[in-house]
Amino acid sequence: MSIQHLIRTTIKALKPYSSARDEFKGLKDNLIFLDANENPFENGVNRYPDPQQQRLKLLLSEMKNVQPEQILLGNGSDEVLDLLIRMFCEPNQDNIIILPPTYGMYEVLADINAVKTIKVNLSASSFQPQLSDILERANEYSKILFLCSPNNPTGNSFEASTIESLLRTFKGIVVIDEAYIDFSNKESWLSQLHNFPNLVITQTLSKAYGMAGIRLGMCFASTEIISTLNKIKAPYNINELTQKKALEGLRKHSALKEQIASILTERSTLAEALDHLPYVEKIFPTDANFIMAKVDDANQRYQQLIEKGVVIRNRTSQPLCENCLRFTIGTNEENRRLVQILKTL
Ligand SMILES: *Cc1c(COP(=O)(O)O)cnc(C)c1O
Repeated sequence: MSIQHLIRTTIKALKPYSSARDEFKGLKDNLIFLDANENPFENGVNRYPDPQQQRLKLLLSEMKNVQPEQILLGNGSDEVLDLLIRMFCEPNQDNIIILPPTYGMYEVLADINAVKTIKVNLSASSFQPQLSDILERANEYSKILFLCSPNNPTGNSFEASTIESLLRTFKGIVVIDEAYIDFSNKESWLSQLHNFPNLVITQTLSKAYGMAGIRLGMCFASTEIISTLNKIKAPYNINELTQKKALEGLRKHSALKEQIASILTERSTLAEALDHLPYVEKIFPTDANFIMAKVDDANQRYQQLIEKGVVIRNRTSQPLCENCLRFTIGTNEENRRLVQILKTL
C-alpha cells in the first residue's frame, strides 16, 4: 500500500524549505555565520535552533528503536496532529474519523482546517472501537482515523486485534495517539511501523515525561510520511530552550521511572478510595494517569470539589460519559487531601 494517493496535491508539489543552517550544518566547525541576520553576541539563544533537532532525534531514535528519519517533532503533539490533518485532508472536501468519547483536539483541529469530522462512538459497554460501524461510516473522503489508546477520558486501551484489523481495512491513515502509553503495561505500536505503511504514532513529553511546559510532541511514521511532514512544518518549530530541556529531561531515566511507579501506586490507592464512596457508581479500568468514575451527580460533585479547592475534569457532557468525572493522579499528598475531601461530600 502506497500512501502517496492520500496526500493533498498541493502538499505533494511543495519543495522542502531550506533554512540557512540546513545547508551548511556539519560541513566544518568554526564557520562564520553571517546569513540569518541574528545578533552575533552569544547568550545561549542568539542563534536560530536546529530546524531538524538532530541531537534530540538521535536520542529518541535510540530510546524508541526507530530511525531518526522516522521522527517528526512538534510544538506539542497538538502541532503534530494539526500537521497530519493539513498533509492529508483537503479543506471542504475530506474528513477525519474520531471515536467519541475521546480527546477534544482532533475535532477542533479538523474544524480549524475546514475538514469534516465523522464520529463513530466507542462501544457503550467497554469503550472499544466498533470495527463494522467505522468501516460503514467511512467514505472515499475519509483520510485519517484517530485512535486514542489509552483513550482520554475513559483511560482504557483498545484491543490490539481491533487496532490491527483497522490498520488492515481502513483505507486511509491510522493515527494511534499514545500520549499515555508510558503509564500502560500494553506494548506501544512503534514496533509495528514497518508492517503498516498507513500507521502513524504520536507521543508526547507532556504526560509521563513531566515536561508539559516545554511543548514537545513526537510523531513516528514511515520515512515517506515524515519527509512530507517536514515540508509542511515551520522551519524552527522547536525552540532552542525546548530542545535543550528535552535532551536533559530524557536522560533522567531513573527519576522518571520512579515518578511513574509512584503515579501508578497512587492510582490504585485512589481507585480503592473511590470504590468506597457511596456516591461513586462505577470506576472504569485505566491504563493512564487518570481515573474516570461515574457518580450520582457529576455537576454537583464537580462544583463541591471546586469549593473545597480541588479542580478535576467534568466529562458528563461527553457521549457515553453521563455523570462521569476524570481525576488526574497527583502526588501522594495531593491524593490524600483529595480522598479526605471526597469523604466529606
Ligand atoms: C494530553 C494529550 C495530548 C498531549 O498533547 P501535547 O500537545 O503534546 O501536550 C495528546 N493526546 C491526548 C489524547 C492527550 O490527552
